[in-house]
Parts: sequence; C-alpha cells; structure tokens
Amino acid sequence: MKTVDCQNLLHARLDVLYGRSEVDAMTRLIMDEVLHFSPVDIVLRAQNDVPDFFPEALEKIISRLEKQEPIQYILGGAWFHGHRFAVTPATLIPRPETEQLVDLVVDENSERADLRVLDIGTGSGCIAISLARALKFAQVTGLDVSDEALAVASGNAKSLKAHVDWVEADLLANPQWPEASLDIVVSNPPYICQSERATMERNVLDYEPGLALFVPDDDPLLFYRPIARLASSALVPGGHLYLEVNSRFSDDVVSLLTRHGFCDAQSVRDSYGNVRFVTASRQLD
Ligand code: GLN
Repeated sequence: MKTVDCQNLLHARLDVLYGRSEVDAMTRLIMDEVLHFSPVDIVLRAQNDVPDFFPEALEKIISRLEKQEPIQYILGGAWFHGHRFAVTPATLIPRPETEQLVDLVVDENSERADLRVLDIGTGSGCIAISLARALKFAQVTGLDVSDEALAVASGNAKSLKAHVDWVEADLLANPQWPEASLDIVVSNPPYICQSERATMERNVLDYEPGLALFVPDDDPLLFYRPIARLASSALVPGGHLYLEVNSRFSDDVVSLLTRHGFCDAQSVRDSYGNVRFVTASRQLD
C-alpha cells in the first residue's frame, strides 16, 4: 500500500461523514502521529510503500472515526499552545478558544516573574502546563476533582518538562486555599447547559466527559460561584482572575464577580468574535 492509497482510502471512507478538508486535516494528523510524516513527506513519499504495520493500524483508526470518536482520543493526543498533550476520555480535548485564554494571561503577565498561579478544573493540564512553560519561574498548581484527569495532567507535565503541583479537590465542596497566596487564578470550568446538548455534535456528546462540560439549566454559574469565593480570598490584592465563560452568561459572571468585590470585571471576545472570557482583579486594599 502506497502513501497516496492511504490518503485515497481515508477520503473514500470518511468524506461523506466529515467533508474533504476535515479529512485532509485528519490525514495529516494520522500520518504525523503514526508515521512521523510531515505534510511535505506526505507529498514527497506519495508513491512509496507505507510500513507493513500501517494498513491494519489505519483500518482500526478509520473504523473508530466512522463511529465519530474524536481523532484526538484515537491518536491519544491533541495540540495546544504549541505542545502535544496526551488526552483520554477522562479529559476534555483542549479547544483553540482556550489557547486564547492562555494568551490573555501570558500577554498581560509576560514581564513578571515568580507568579503564583492556580488553574481550577485543570483536566489534561493544558492551561496549567502551558502557563508554567510560558511565564518566567511561575509556581503553577492545577486542581481537579478527577483523579483520572490528574494522572493524565501529571503525565503531560512530565513529558513536557513543566513543573506543576497537582491538587485533587472538589470545587463544589468549597476547598480552602491560603489567604492572599496567589497572583493569578485561571479556569475553564464546565459551562454548557443541558438544554444546549441539542446543538452539539455526536463526537462531543458520545465521547467527551460530561462532568467537564455540563451544568444544570437552572444553575449555569454553578462553578463560577465557588471560583469567585475562592479567588476573592486566595488572590493577593490586585491579583488577576481569568475565566472562560458561556457567551450567554458573561454578563452574569461579570455581575457575580463585582458582587464578590472584584474590580474591572469585563468580558473579552475570542478571535471568532464571540464573548468567551471574563477577566477581573481583586480590589487593592
Ligand atoms: N481546563 C481544561 C481545558 O481547558 C479542562 C476544562 C474542563 O474540563 N471544563 O481543557
């Protein structure tokens, strides 16, 4: 089987489901992960035979993609902020919008050193680890309720050579955090309402962890209240809070933070033009 035959097979089986350009992107990911072929290699080696093991491996991958399993779970990894993170069904697949949350933090804090940072609901650790790598001498902690997610996150920190401390705690049980001990709190908590399920793709609904995605329709700010409570005492005066939010509820998050004594609470748009983040700072004494 030649490289070009693999490409043709992927298109023949998957274009109906995903469309041609999405299948092109999947082909690049599969060739990169399994054969370490760059996009240039795919062209240059089009007429070369692939290794013997590959046709069978490819068949397994294609049949999982036909069941709409996310390619990141099939390949076991996802790219985020320039790094490859291992992901499993215990963790959400990092989203490009969330890279912009990391950029917001980095852009505003790149001149500072030794910052103490807490990432609440760290999942694969993508935010915590990217910040540990991008900020100078930052002391980063990632908190999550799921021990399975934390195992993935700590594996990611090892392979990406980042130092992050991990804490297993249930945010909804109001964990205590030392007063005025943090410079930055960041979080991308669950924020999608159950009623929004109808608008979502099967590959998300059937495979990604509901625990990391959904909140009850009647309580969309479920996770933002304990985040606000924790951050309002654990941040130093003038410390910053950076949150990813549901665009439908950004105004409610802004009011919640203002009620908790934060100043300058404001919504920030992502590069698709949707309101996607809220930032605020703890009042100076
Ligand atoms: N912080 C992780 C991420 O951004 C997990 C988010 C979540 O599980 N809600 O991918």
